[in-house]
Amino acid sequence: MNKTIYFIANWKMNGNHNSIKEIERVFIFFKKNVIYKFKKIIFCPPINLLSSFRAKIKSRLIDFGTQDISKININNGPYTGQLSGKMLKDTGANYVIIGHSEKRLIDEDFKTIKDKINVALKNKLKIIFCIGENLSQKNKGLSLKVLKKQILSSLDKNKINFNNLIIAYEPIWSIGTGVVPSNNYLYKIYGNLKKFLKEKYNVNSPVMLYGGSVTTYNVVTLREISLISGFLIGGASLKSASFIKIIKNYFK
Ligand code: PEP
Repeated sequence: MNKTIYFIANWKMNGNHNSIKEIERVFIFFKKNVIYKFKKIIFCPPINLLSSFRAKIKSRLIDFGTQDISKININNGPYTGQLSGKMLKDTGANYVIIGHSEKRLIDEDFKTIKDKINVALKNKLKIIFCIGENLSQKNKGLSLKVLKKQILSSLDKNKINFNNLIIAYEPIWSIGTGVVPSNNYLYKIYGNLKKFLKEKYNVNSPVMLYGGSVTTYNVVTLREISLISGFLIGGASLKSASFIKIIKNYFK
């Protein structure tokens, strides 16, 4: 079966107006190389760049997402600094990252994440829901317990439709460190999560991604795990050359 493989570029607090060049190069590459059919490319630049990038790249080959959303469930109002779900949808974004460990550290607790997910669903933004354990939790053998708690505390089984939700497993000890879990470790995590999601949410084929120090090299090993339907990529997504090479190497 040819399933869609996701390559999501999380630019974090990086990029400027010139960075459109990187996205344009990716766009030109895929326009020329139509063999890469079963992939979905999503760029999540900082919000100040999103509208103008979207205006320049109007193509089904490239989709866009935001890195955050207000938890306040109204379209407009006296909330300084907030961007409503409707405003984000108006930028041209179709996706939103929620629950990233870097955001959890700053201001996202379980309740906030749940509220943000509701706002995203109401505004028809698809959710890239990040989960991940830290190193000390991993060393204590608590990884699966932590991941399951993150899922249960934020995903309401009466509201979530897994067609609109992607789960990105991002071990915190792997993000930006160059350390990637072994395939054995990943088989265990994804196998257990798939079973857990079936039990709790009755979902058969959840879209589950991997994130954390993905490179042009390790993607060749990571692709062996069939339960992984793609990648959330930070550092290596900032330059078109490495981003394209990751995708090429995945399909090689
Ligand atoms: C991320 O933070 O989502 C991420 C995967 O970062 P990096 O690829 O740089 O580890």
